[in-house]
Amino acid sequence: MNFKLSEEQELIRSNVREFALKHIEPVAAEIDANSRQPAEIFEKLAELGMMGISYPTEYGGGGTEFLTTMIVTEELARSCAATGFLHGYSFGLIGHPILAFGNEEQKKKWMPGLAAGKLVGSFTLTEPGAGTDVSAATTSAVKNDNEYVLNGTKTFITNAIIADVFVVFAYTDRSAGPKGMSCFLVPKGTPGLILGQHFEKMGIRGSQTSEVVFKDCVVTADCLVGKEGDGFKIAMSALDAGRIGMAAMSTGIAQACLDESVKYSKERVQFNKPIAKQQAIQWFIADMSTDIDAARYFYMNAAWVKDQGKSFSLAASKAKLFCSECAARHTTKAVQIQGGYGYIKGSKVERLYRDAKITEIGEGTSEAQRMIIAGAALR
Ligand SMILES: Cc1cc2nc3c(=O)[nH]c(=O)nc-3n(C[C@H](O)[C@H](O)[C@H](O)COP(=O)(O)OP(=O)(O)OC[C@H]3O[C@@H](n4cnc5c(N)ncnc54)[C@H](O)[C@@H]3O)c2cc1C
Repeated sequence: MNFKLSEEQELIRSNVREFALKHIEPVAAEIDANSRQPAEIFEKLAELGMMGISYPTEYGGGGTEFLTTMIVTEELARSCAATGFLHGYSFGLIGHPILAFGNEEQKKKWMPGLAAGKLVGSFTLTEPGAGTDVSAATTSAVKNDNEYVLNGTKTFITNAIIADVFVVFAYTDRSAGPKGMSCFLVPKGTPGLILGQHFEKMGIRGSQTSEVVFKDCVVTADCLVGKEGDGFKIAMSALDAGRIGMAAMSTGIAQACLDESVKYSKERVQFNKPIAKQQAIQWFIADMSTDIDAARYFYMNAAWVKDQGKSFSLAASKAKLFCSECAARHTTKAVQIQGGYGYIKGSKVERLYRDAKITEIGEGTSEAQRMIIAGAALR
């Protein structure tokens, strides 16, 4: 791997940073306070081509590497974790499965709208009784001539209330275990696709999370992605791609902690000198800075492996595990550096502290990543 970003990637990073400082940073606290999904920011990002930057040009994308997308995710998360999360989610959990497993008709139907930021997708896998254990899902898809009838309940589904397309996983043959799971692209408004409970969250409050219920929901057979039985494989591949996004988002959160900690510790005076002069604070900052470099290399490596067309599952799990725990560790330290001021609502580090927690849970918990990594090491 070449550790140096290309001139284009450096330019995109600095342009997105400038954009985030101008358009996101001033409203990030309000987005969090009001649990508001910032449509106006996504419109502007779409105008800049950032919602389709790494999608193939034939589907209206920018044709860059996936790595470039992840740099954008990191810089967005540095100002607003929810915005960074939704950006990475769109590429990993929606665009990736359609591009990697969809047929030409499905790509033409959905990709240009996703690339232009005009369409939003929702990854619809988790169920009340099937979180880490994806195979315990009970949602069924029963074939009836040229249609499938979906029944079941999905929970914790991001974007459900605004989604145009749902990437849904359901069993077409329960007796076959994971090999009996299939994937469907279900358009919004399909009769029988019902929004359930909406959840209030601790962090990433600028993203929306709801239950989705399928009640005799009839979809045409052309909604099936790949073949019957491909669903588990598609879900795992999408989660692998999504995990790189989570890792980039985590790195952005950790970088924001460093930004805030450096600024605050130089300004805050105790015992007649800035607290930055205290070795205890310097050590916090040294550890943060070192871990962030490592986190960045981790997610960039995973994105690079994906860009090479190689299996990126293990690299994605390692990146997600390291980067999310880095974000969790250093949001705690960033609050510590600001003492009581860091604990008060309205401080950026208080928001980052809450936002960071999801990175250890969503798209596979840290324990799930350790299971994957240990499984590979012990093979
Ligand atoms: C804000 C938010 C957004 C989300 N968005 C989506 C979405 O868009 N689409 C979607 O499909 N899902 C989504 N999810 C669901 C998310 O992926 C799951 O919450 C996650 O995979 C964990 O599942 P669970 O919550 O059921 O926890 P559980 O699987 O019940 O796990 C509970 C605890 O047990 C541990 N555990 C479980 N099994 C093992 C094991 N074998 N060994 C060791 N420890 C274990 C876990 O690590 C965890 O600590 C979202 C969740 C949240 C909170």
